Amino acid sequence: MSDMVMHLIRSDVEDILVRALNGEQLGYDDCIRLMRSRDVNLIGKVANLLKERLYGKTVSFINNLILNYTNVCITYCKFCAFYRPPKHPEGYTVGIDECVRRVGIAKELFNIRQVLMQGGHNPDLRIEYYESIFKAIKSRFPDIAIHALSPSEIDMIARVERSSTREVLSRLKDAGLDSIPGGGAEILDDEVKAVISPLKMKSDEWLRIMEEAHRLGIPSSATMMYGHVESIEHRARSLMKIIELQRRTGGFIAFIPWNFEPNNTELKREGLVRYSSGGMELLKMISIARIMLNRLIDHIQSSWLTNGIGMAQLALHYGSDDFGGTLHGEEVVSATGARATTLTEERIVKAIKQVGMTAVERDNMYNIVRYFD
Ligand code: SF4
Repeated sequence: MSDMVMHLIRSDVEDILVRALNGEQLGYDDCIRLMRSRDVNLIGKVANLLKERLYGKTVSFINNLILNYTNVCITYCKFCAFYRPPKHPEGYTVGIDECVRRVGIAKELFNIRQVLMQGGHNPDLRIEYYESIFKAIKSRFPDIAIHALSPSEIDMIARVERSSTREVLSRLKDAGLDSIPGGGAEILDDEVKAVISPLKMKSDEWLRIMEEAHRLGIPSSATMMYGHVESIEHRARSLMKIIELQRRTGGFIAFIPWNFEPNNTELKREGLVRYSSGGMELLKMISIARIMLNRLIDHIQSSWLTNGIGMAQLALHYGSDDFGGTLHGEEVVSATGARATTLTEERIVKAIKQVGMTAVERDNMYNIVRYFD
């Protein structure tokens, strides 16, 4: 601790880091100063200390399947390389039986504990499509958790059904929905959304649907996609909105920051973003998330999917406690040509062991189900 204090004395954010180590909750101005600081390694060291107080050297991951059930979408986000407009020859929708068949195969081959379902905003899909898939999965594989449909997809279903988002969430929960992913947040600021996703729901809508889900007993993760047209202030405001909601509901179980990958996207074609923000920024965002969310959101994912295994390993020393999922079947990030989007359990365990930590398999609610020596 004394060595640490010596370092803190020389840092431009020492007061913030000392307060964080003392368990204080930090505010918007602190967040801005952390984001402006160049002291990434020290911020990361403090973030790692906070993480180790909770988890020691243990790092979790989940065996899961991603079902990108449709790429048909009418929202045309400029950061997305995955969608195809209606009637496009490359558009697809996976049928109900095929969805269930894929889950069955993944269960048999990889003993998955979670299916993560996300897709485009397809106006042809009624709520019965989702209900049928959830019910079929739950009846055949009751121990597989359904982590599905981010707030913007819930909003799309409500619009198709001319129903309320609360009613949609309630019906989907009855059909087997366990938790919802935090996609669609990107940066929770409408100035940013007006540029990168003008047809997508506004920030307050995302927060409202998350609050509805939490109040219905459906927990969720929260995400931040950074590194495009946003400023540091936008990032800080976005994080503070998540913090404020978490103080009210306690429904977020994990936070996942990931950097925007511009390849094959409109933002790159228009010249608004030329390259991704890179590894140092990732480590900084992971560290700041751990420090800002300390005692509020327990789990910070290191997102190997968008940043690669090497960066995810580093992130484990900067405040992240979770390696994410094995992600068999992922198609959204693969559309950017970024990198391989499947890892085997063996490869994840090895990656965790390589950095001197202990790998544990978890379930959808972050309960440990298996230790690896
Ligand atoms: S990010 Fe989602 S909503 Fe936006 S275009 Fe892609 S699939 Fe559609």
